Amino acid sequence: MNSIISRITDKVWKLSSDGNLYFLDFDKKIIIDTGARSNVHIVRQFLSKIIDFEKVGIVIFTHLHFDHVGNFDLFPNAEFYASAESIEDFQENPFGCVLMQDIAVKLKSVKLNPLPDRFYGLEIIKTPGHTRGSICLWYPEEKILFSGDTLFFNRNMGRLDLPTSVPDKMNESLMKLVAYNYKILCPGHDY
Ligand SMILES: [Zn+2]
Repeated sequence: MNSIISRITDKVWKLSSDGNLYFLDFDKKIIIDTGARSNVHIVRQFLSKIIDFEKVGIVIFTHLHFDHVGNFDLFPNAEFYASAESIEDFQENPFGCVLMQDIAVKLKSVKLNPLPDRFYGLEIIKTPGHTRGSICLWYPEEKILFSGDTLFFNRNMGRLDLPTSVPDKMNESLMKLVAYNYKILCPGHDY
């Protein structure tokens, strides 16, 4: 058994990487975050065991830091989604949003679509703090919370000192998450 890729539930897979990636095997094939570019070989090798990259229809970014968007280009047929706030910040300040110049430049080549409140059985929760546009995703059917860099294990939280951070909002965002009685936490990093 390897710990790089694991099946969390029937329809949800996790690829542990520098920036975790989640694969949702719904009618539409969905990826949440794509990991850091430095891990492209790991993503290619392990994710290809469970899915044909060409079949991924949707990629959702919890925010646009380089360790979450780094491998977006592995999915040639996907539509890309992020919060309206993240897209706005990216248009204004690509480097500040992504924190790595070459990835920021590459990301300009795709259309980023704003996420609605509900999306393929997922609820989008706006959780500004780590970045202004950070979101978490709630999958009610399995009580899974995809928490990006807002909430990690052991109640750790994401950094608040980055260019698009809004530290004043973090507490409110974390309180919002308390209301979701999750069974499984799927964070952006296993800190
Ligand atoms: Zn981040």
